[in-house]
Amino acid sequence: MRRAWAPHCQGPHTTLTLHGGGRITIKTATVPAWLVLNDILRKHNYQTHRADTGAFNCRVITGGSNYSLHAYGIAADLNWSKNPYSKTLRTDMPGAMVAEIKAIRTMNGKRVFRWGGDYRGNKDAMHYEIICTPRDLASGIHQQNAIPPADLGQVLRTLQESSRGTPLKRGDNGPRVGQLQWVLNQKAGQGLIVDGDFGPATEASVNNALRFMGRPENGVADSGVWQFLFAAPD
Ligand SMILES: [Zn+2]
Repeated sequence: MRRAWAPHCQGPHTTLTLHGGGRITIKTATVPAWLVLNDILRKHNYQTHRADTGAFNCRVITGGSNYSLHAYGIAADLNWSKNPYSKTLRTDMPGAMVAEIKAIRTMNGKRVFRWGGDYRGNKDAMHYEIICTPRDLASGIHQQNAIPPADLGQVLRTLQESSRGTPLKRGDNGPRVGQLQWVLNQKAGQGLIVDGDFGPATEASVNNALRFMGRPENGVADSGVWQFLFAAPD
């Protein structure tokens, strides 16, 4: 995972507020995964606390020379006072919730999270880490709350029309930007807030797509970008 998510201690990072108010700073490419994890926290009303929740930390492993996964922005610690690092498992996390988090898969079938409570040696119940590669994550997160198929045909026709308009870039806003954000979420697992506002997060997502296409990352969503996204698997 360290090789897949290198370099350490380097962004882009995004800070998310989890259910209950805990805040985590994680690598932006992993945002969709943490949003799905947060949906599961919310479903079980498991409240995180600001005071003992965190993620990114540019440090080496205690007693080792490797950088911690926290230095790669792909691990988060939730409520560490009730879920301490210890010889035996101590946790206030409901088993069903942990099971659901461990069941999250990418669209290409890879498991997304490992839980520190499952470590063979000392248990680290506060800790969740990403165990798939950036490419796996880019295939999208398997979402149970996706748009129902009945609406999908109509959505796709509207999108085809939108894709033929003027190329979109940072500072643009309106329904076509919202549609672009929706497609980026569906096809590239970007976890964008669909607000019709082409800001830095949307620009970073478009650049991700351009990078996958081998094109210069100029932040412009032209028809080529739309077509690339349409062609990606759901
Ligand atoms: Zn940790």
